[in-house]
Amino acid sequence: ATEEESEIITDHVTTQDGSEIEVASNVGTLAELDPADEAGADGIGLFRTEFLFLDRESPPDEDEQYEAYVEALSTFPDERVIVRTLDIGGDKPIPYLDTPNEDNPFLGERGIRRSLGTDADLFETQLRALLRAGTEGNLAVMFPLVSHVEELDSALARVEQVAEALDEDGIDYEIPELGVMIETPGSVFMAASLAERVDFLSIGTNDLTQYVMAVSRENEQVADLHDPLHPPVLRAIRRTVSAGHDGGAWVGMCGEMAGDPDLTELLVGLGLDELSMSAVTIPEVKSNVEKTDSEDARERSERVLEAETRTEIRRLLSGDTNESG
Ligand code: PEP
Ligand code: MG
Repeated sequence: ATEEESEIITDHVTTQDGSEIEVASNVGTLAELDPADEAGADGIGLFRTEFLFLDRESPPDEDEQYEAYVEALSTFPDERVIVRTLDIGGDKPIPYLDTPNEDNPFLGERGIRRSLGTDADLFETQLRALLRAGTEGNLAVMFPLVSHVEELDSALARVEQVAEALDEDGIDYEIPELGVMIETPGSVFMAASLAERVDFLSIGTNDLTQYVMAVSRENEQVADLHDPLHPPVLRAIRRTVSAGHDGGAWVGMCGEMAGDPDLTELLVGLGLDELSMSAVTIPEVKSNVEKTDSEDARERSERVLEAETRTEIRRLLSGDTNESG
Protein backbone atom coordinates (compact mmCIF):
# COMPACT_ATOMS: atom_id res chain seq x y z
CA ALA A 1 0.00 0.00 0.00
CA THR A 2 1.20 3.50 -0.78
CA GLU A 3 1.36 6.14 1.95
CA GLU A 4 -1.56 7.95 0.41
CA GLU A 5 -3.72 4.85 0.78
CA SER A 6 -3.05 4.46 4.47
CA GLU A 7 -4.10 8.01 5.41
CA ILE A 8 -6.79 8.00 8.08
CA ILE A 9 -10.22 9.13 6.89
CA THR A 10 -12.40 10.03 9.87
CA ASP A 11 -15.51 11.11 7.94
CA HIS A 12 -18.03 8.70 6.46
CA VAL A 13 -17.16 7.98 2.84
CA THR A 14 -19.21 7.98 -0.33
CA THR A 15 -18.57 6.55 -3.76
CA GLN A 16 -17.75 8.96 -6.61
CA ASP A 17 -21.43 9.22 -7.39
CA GLY A 18 -22.40 9.91 -3.79
CA SER A 19 -23.68 6.68 -2.21
CA GLU A 20 -22.54 6.32 1.36
CA ILE A 21 -20.93 3.04 2.40
CA GLU A 22 -20.38 2.67 6.12
CA VAL A 23 -16.94 1.32 6.99
CA ALA A 24 -17.01 -0.02 10.53
CA SER A 25 -14.72 -2.09 12.69
CA ASN A 26 -14.88 -5.60 14.12
CA VAL A 27 -13.67 -5.83 17.72
CA GLY A 28 -13.06 -8.82 19.93
CA THR A 29 -11.87 -7.03 23.11
CA LEU A 30 -12.35 -3.63 24.75
CA ALA A 31 -8.70 -2.85 24.03
CA GLU A 32 -9.54 -2.77 20.31
CA LEU A 33 -12.07 0.07 20.66
CA ASP A 34 -9.60 2.99 20.65
CA PRO A 35 -7.50 1.63 17.77
CA ALA A 36 -10.73 1.22 15.78
CA ASP A 37 -11.67 4.83 16.49
CA GLU A 38 -8.15 6.00 15.59
CA ALA A 39 -8.32 4.09 12.29
CA GLY A 40 -11.39 6.14 11.34
CA ALA A 41 -14.07 3.47 11.91
CA ASP A 42 -17.68 4.56 11.37
CA GLY A 43 -18.62 2.72 14.55
CA ILE A 44 -18.55 -0.99 15.35
CA GLY A 45 -20.03 -3.47 12.86
CA LEU A 46 -19.28 -6.56 14.94
CA PHE A 47 -18.57 -6.53 18.66
CA ARG A 48 -17.80 -10.18 19.43
CA THR A 49 -18.92 -10.75 23.03
CA GLU A 50 -17.17 -14.10 23.56
CA PHE A 51 -14.15 -12.37 25.17
CA LEU A 52 -16.33 -11.29 28.09
CA PHE A 53 -16.80 -14.98 28.89
CA LEU A 54 -13.24 -16.24 28.27
CA ASP A 55 -10.31 -16.65 30.70
CA ARG A 56 -12.44 -16.76 33.80
CA GLU A 57 -14.35 -19.25 35.89
CA SER A 58 -17.91 -17.96 35.71
CA PRO A 59 -19.91 -15.81 33.31
CA PRO A 60 -19.93 -12.00 33.64
CA ASP A 61 -23.04 -10.68 35.41
CA GLU A 62 -25.49 -8.17 33.98
CA ASP A 63 -23.70 -5.09 35.37
CA GLU A 64 -20.29 -6.16 34.12
CA GLN A 65 -21.72 -6.68 30.64
CA TYR A 66 -23.62 -3.39 30.79
CA GLU A 67 -20.36 -1.56 31.59
CA ALA A 68 -18.60 -3.18 28.62
CA TYR A 69 -21.39 -2.24 26.18
CA VAL A 70 -21.50 1.32 27.52
CA GLU A 71 -17.73 1.59 27.08
CA ALA A 72 -18.12 0.70 23.41
CA LEU A 73 -20.95 3.20 22.99
CA SER A 74 -19.00 5.97 24.66
CA THR A 75 -16.01 5.37 22.38
CA PHE A 76 -18.38 5.98 19.45
CA PRO A 77 -20.94 8.52 20.72
CA ASP A 78 -22.05 9.49 17.20
CA GLU A 79 -21.90 6.09 15.54
CA ARG A 80 -23.70 2.78 15.61
CA VAL A 81 -22.28 -0.05 17.71
CA ILE A 82 -23.46 -3.55 16.70
CA VAL A 83 -23.10 -6.09 19.48
CA ARG A 84 -23.44 -9.76 18.57
CA THR A 85 -25.03 -11.95 21.20
CA LEU A 86 -22.87 -14.75 22.55
CA ASP A 87 -21.63 -17.04 19.78
CA ILE A 88 -20.09 -20.08 21.40
CA GLY A 89 -19.81 -23.69 20.37
CA GLY A 90 -18.12 -24.79 17.14
CA ASP A 91 -14.68 -23.14 17.18
CA LYS A 92 -15.55 -21.10 20.29
CA PRO A 93 -15.93 -23.37 23.35
CA ILE A 94 -16.03 -21.95 26.89
CA PRO A 95 -14.57 -24.24 29.57
CA TYR A 96 -16.96 -23.55 32.49
CA LEU A 97 -20.04 -23.90 30.31
CA ASP A 98 -21.35 -27.31 29.64
CA THR A 99 -20.14 -27.75 26.05
CA PRO A 100 -20.97 -31.24 24.83
CA ASN A 101 -18.51 -33.41 22.94
CA GLU A 102 -20.03 -33.32 19.51
CA ASP A 103 -18.90 -35.29 16.46
CA ASN A 104 -19.55 -32.27 14.25
CA PRO A 105 -19.39 -29.19 16.50
CA PHE A 106 -19.83 -26.79 13.57
CA LEU A 107 -23.13 -28.52 12.83
CA GLY A 108 -24.07 -28.76 16.47
CA GLU A 109 -25.22 -26.58 19.30
CA ARG A 110 -23.62 -23.23 18.55
CA GLY A 111 -24.59 -19.57 18.22
CA ILE A 112 -28.28 -18.76 18.59
CA ARG A 113 -29.08 -22.46 19.08
CA ARG A 114 -27.34 -22.42 22.46
CA SER A 115 -28.87 -19.06 23.40
CA LEU A 116 -32.34 -20.47 22.79
CA GLY A 117 -31.50 -23.80 24.48
CA THR A 118 -28.78 -24.69 26.97
CA ASP A 119 -27.75 -21.07 27.58
CA ALA A 120 -31.21 -19.49 27.85
CA ASP A 121 -30.28 -17.91 31.20
CA LEU A 122 -27.09 -16.37 29.86
CA PHE A 123 -29.05 -15.06 26.89
CA GLU A 124 -31.57 -13.38 29.18
CA THR A 125 -28.81 -11.75 31.24
CA GLN A 126 -27.07 -10.54 28.09
CA LEU A 127 -30.30 -9.12 26.67
CA ARG A 128 -31.05 -7.29 29.94
CA ALA A 129 -27.58 -5.71 29.88
CA LEU A 130 -28.00 -4.78 26.21
CA LEU A 131 -31.45 -3.23 26.56
CA ARG A 132 -30.23 -1.17 29.51
CA ALA A 133 -27.19 -0.05 27.49
CA GLY A 134 -29.59 0.88 24.66
CA THR A 135 -30.32 4.17 26.42
CA GLU A 136 -26.64 5.19 26.25
CA GLY A 137 -26.08 5.53 22.51
CA ASN A 138 -26.80 4.14 19.07
CA LEU A 139 -26.82 0.45 19.91
CA ALA A 140 -27.71 -2.43 17.60
CA VAL A 141 -27.83 -6.13 18.47
CA MET A 142 -27.53 -9.09 16.12
CA PHE A 143 -27.98 -12.84 16.45
CA PRO A 144 -25.39 -15.35 15.13
CA LEU A 145 -25.94 -18.54 13.16
CA VAL A 146 -29.65 -18.22 12.51
CA SER A 147 -30.78 -20.81 9.98
CA HIS A 148 -34.56 -20.53 9.95
CA VAL A 149 -37.29 -18.01 10.73
CA GLU A 150 -38.59 -19.53 13.97
CA GLU A 151 -35.18 -19.10 15.59
CA LEU A 152 -35.35 -15.40 14.90
CA ASP A 153 -38.96 -15.22 16.08
CA SER A 154 -37.94 -16.91 19.35
CA ALA A 155 -35.00 -14.54 19.82
CA LEU A 156 -37.24 -11.53 19.17
CA ALA A 157 -39.80 -12.89 21.64
CA ARG A 158 -37.02 -13.09 24.26
CA VAL A 159 -36.19 -9.45 23.62
CA GLU A 160 -39.86 -8.57 24.22
CA GLN A 161 -39.95 -10.63 27.42
CA VAL A 162 -36.82 -8.96 28.73
CA ALA A 163 -38.30 -5.54 27.94
CA GLU A 164 -41.46 -6.43 29.88
CA ALA A 165 -39.41 -7.63 32.84
CA LEU A 166 -37.41 -4.38 32.84
CA ASP A 167 -40.67 -2.44 32.72
CA GLU A 168 -41.94 -4.35 35.72
CA ASP A 169 -38.72 -3.66 37.60
CA GLY A 170 -38.97 0.04 36.71
CA ILE A 171 -35.55 -0.04 35.01
CA ASP A 172 -34.74 2.32 32.13
CA TYR A 173 -34.10 0.65 28.80
CA GLU A 174 -34.36 1.07 25.06
CA ILE A 175 -34.84 -1.70 22.51
CA PRO A 176 -31.86 -1.44 20.14
CA GLU A 177 -31.89 -1.76 16.38
CA LEU A 178 -32.03 -5.53 15.71
CA GLY A 179 -30.36 -7.66 13.07
CA VAL A 180 -29.49 -11.17 11.95
CA MET A 181 -26.19 -12.57 10.80
CA ILE A 182 -26.40 -14.38 7.49
CA GLU A 183 -23.99 -17.29 7.91
CA THR A 184 -25.93 -20.37 6.81
CA PRO A 185 -27.52 -21.39 3.49
CA GLY A 186 -30.85 -21.60 5.36
CA SER A 187 -30.66 -17.93 6.27
CA VAL A 188 -29.72 -16.99 2.69
CA PHE A 189 -32.81 -18.71 1.32
CA MET A 190 -34.98 -17.08 4.00
CA ALA A 191 -33.27 -13.68 3.89
CA ALA A 192 -36.38 -11.77 2.73
CA SER A 193 -38.50 -13.17 5.57
CA LEU A 194 -35.73 -12.53 8.08
CA ALA A 195 -35.28 -9.00 6.76
CA GLU A 196 -38.98 -8.22 7.20
CA ARG A 197 -38.62 -8.93 10.91
CA VAL A 198 -35.49 -6.87 11.66
CA ASP A 199 -33.66 -3.67 10.74
CA PHE A 200 -30.57 -5.18 9.14
CA LEU A 201 -28.71 -8.28 7.97
CA SER A 202 -24.96 -8.75 8.36
CA ILE A 203 -23.25 -11.37 6.21
CA GLY A 204 -20.65 -13.45 8.06
CA THR A 205 -18.60 -14.76 5.16
CA ASN A 206 -16.30 -16.87 7.35
CA ASP A 207 -19.12 -19.18 8.34
CA LEU A 208 -21.17 -18.65 5.20
CA THR A 209 -18.27 -19.89 3.06
CA GLN A 210 -17.84 -22.85 5.39
CA TYR A 211 -21.48 -23.87 5.11
CA VAL A 212 -22.06 -23.09 1.43
CA MET A 213 -18.88 -24.92 0.34
CA ALA A 214 -19.23 -27.67 2.97
CA VAL A 215 -15.63 -26.98 4.01
CA SER A 216 -14.25 -26.54 7.51
CA ARG A 217 -12.93 -23.02 8.15
CA GLU A 218 -10.13 -24.60 10.22
CA ASN A 219 -8.84 -27.48 8.10
CA GLU A 220 -5.61 -26.69 6.21
CA GLN A 221 -6.13 -29.67 3.92
CA VAL A 222 -9.16 -28.07 2.34
CA ALA A 223 -8.28 -24.40 2.89
CA ASP A 224 -8.40 -23.72 -0.84
CA LEU A 225 -12.14 -24.38 -0.83
CA HIS A 226 -12.67 -21.88 1.98
CA ASP A 227 -12.68 -18.89 -0.33
CA PRO A 228 -15.62 -16.49 -0.75
CA LEU A 229 -14.64 -15.97 -4.39
CA HIS A 230 -16.10 -19.35 -5.27
CA PRO A 231 -19.19 -18.59 -7.40
CA PRO A 232 -21.76 -20.20 -5.07
CA VAL A 233 -20.64 -17.96 -2.19
CA LEU A 234 -20.79 -14.80 -4.31
CA ARG A 235 -24.23 -15.79 -5.55
CA ALA A 236 -25.36 -16.36 -1.96
CA ILE A 237 -24.13 -12.86 -1.08
CA ARG A 238 -25.90 -11.29 -4.04
CA ARG A 239 -29.11 -13.12 -3.17
CA THR A 240 -28.90 -11.96 0.44
CA VAL A 241 -28.42 -8.32 -0.52
CA SER A 242 -31.41 -8.28 -2.91
CA ALA A 243 -33.65 -10.22 -0.54
CA GLY A 244 -32.59 -8.06 2.39
CA HIS A 245 -33.36 -4.85 0.51
CA ASP A 246 -36.68 -6.29 -0.72
CA GLY A 247 -37.52 -7.06 2.91
CA GLY A 248 -36.73 -3.47 3.91
CA ALA A 249 -33.46 -4.10 5.75
CA TRP A 250 -30.04 -2.63 5.15
CA VAL A 251 -27.33 -5.20 4.49
CA GLY A 252 -23.77 -5.24 5.79
CA MET A 253 -20.88 -7.68 5.79
CA CYS A 254 -18.64 -8.49 8.76
CA GLY A 255 -16.71 -11.58 7.61
CA GLU A 256 -13.02 -11.37 6.61
CA MET A 257 -14.03 -10.73 3.01
CA ALA A 258 -15.29 -7.24 3.91
CA GLY A 259 -11.78 -6.15 4.89
CA ASP A 260 -10.03 -7.19 1.69
CA PRO A 261 -9.25 -3.89 -0.06
CA ASP A 262 -8.98 -5.70 -3.41
CA LEU A 263 -12.67 -6.60 -3.11
CA THR A 264 -14.12 -3.21 -2.13
CA GLU A 265 -15.34 -2.39 -5.61
CA LEU A 266 -16.94 -5.82 -5.98
CA LEU A 267 -18.73 -5.50 -2.64
CA VAL A 268 -20.02 -2.03 -3.49
CA GLY A 269 -21.18 -3.45 -6.82
CA LEU A 270 -23.00 -6.25 -5.03
CA GLY A 271 -24.97 -3.61 -3.13
CA LEU A 272 -23.61 -3.86 0.42
CA ASP A 273 -24.50 -0.84 2.57
CA GLU A 274 -21.89 -1.42 5.26
CA LEU A 275 -18.55 -3.22 5.54
CA SER A 276 -17.02 -4.14 8.88
CA MET A 277 -13.43 -5.30 9.36
CA SER A 278 -10.29 -5.27 11.48
CA ALA A 279 -9.18 -1.71 12.19
CA VAL A 280 -5.98 -2.09 10.18
CA THR A 281 -7.69 -2.24 6.75
CA ILE A 282 -10.21 0.57 7.36
CA PRO A 283 -8.15 3.42 5.83
CA GLU A 284 -7.48 1.53 2.61
CA VAL A 285 -11.07 0.31 2.26
CA LYS A 286 -12.40 3.84 2.87
CA SER A 287 -10.06 5.19 0.24
CA ASN A 288 -11.19 2.48 -2.20
CA VAL A 289 -14.87 3.31 -1.61
CA GLU A 290 -14.09 6.91 -2.57
CA LYS A 291 -12.48 5.75 -5.83
CA THR A 292 -15.46 3.58 -6.79
CA ASP A 293 -18.25 4.51 -9.16
CA SER A 294 -21.33 2.52 -8.10
CA GLU A 295 -22.71 2.04 -11.58
CA ASP A 296 -19.38 0.74 -12.95
CA ALA A 297 -19.05 -1.43 -9.88
CA ARG A 298 -22.54 -2.84 -10.35
CA GLU A 299 -21.89 -3.68 -14.01
CA ARG A 300 -18.59 -5.36 -13.17
CA SER A 301 -20.16 -7.32 -10.34
CA GLU A 302 -22.85 -8.59 -12.74
CA ARG A 303 -20.10 -10.02 -14.94
CA VAL A 304 -18.40 -11.57 -11.93
CA LEU A 305 -21.71 -13.14 -10.87
CA GLU A 306 -22.14 -14.71 -14.29
CA ALA A 307 -18.79 -16.48 -14.02
CA GLU A 308 -19.00 -20.19 -13.36
CA THR A 309 -15.55 -20.73 -11.84
CA ARG A 310 -13.31 -19.05 -9.32
CA THR A 311 -10.54 -19.01 -11.91
CA GLU A 312 -12.67 -16.85 -14.16
CA ILE A 313 -13.70 -14.63 -11.25
CA ARG A 314 -10.08 -14.05 -10.28
CA ARG A 315 -9.25 -13.19 -13.86
CA LEU A 316 -12.11 -10.69 -14.04
CA LEU A 317 -11.11 -9.11 -10.74
CA SER A 318 -7.45 -8.77 -11.60
CA GLY A 319 -8.34 -7.27 -14.98
CA ASP A 320 -10.56 -4.79 -13.17
CA THR A 321 -8.39 -3.78 -10.27
CA ASN A 322 -4.78 -4.54 -11.03
CA GLU A 323 -3.65 -1.50 -12.98
CA SER A 324 0.00 -2.52 -13.06
CA GLY A 325 -0.97 -5.85 -14.70
C1 PEP B 1 -18.29 -14.91 10.24
O1 PEP B 1 -18.63 -16.08 10.43
O2 PEP B 1 -18.00 -14.45 9.11
C2 PEP B 1 -18.22 -13.96 11.36
C3 PEP B 1 -18.01 -12.67 11.16
O3 PEP B 1 -18.31 -14.48 12.63
P1 PEP B 1 -17.11 -15.30 13.32
O4 PEP B 1 -15.90 -15.17 12.46
O5 PEP B 1 -16.96 -14.68 14.68
O6 PEP B 1 -17.69 -16.69 13.36
MG1 MG C 1 -19.54 -16.64 12.35
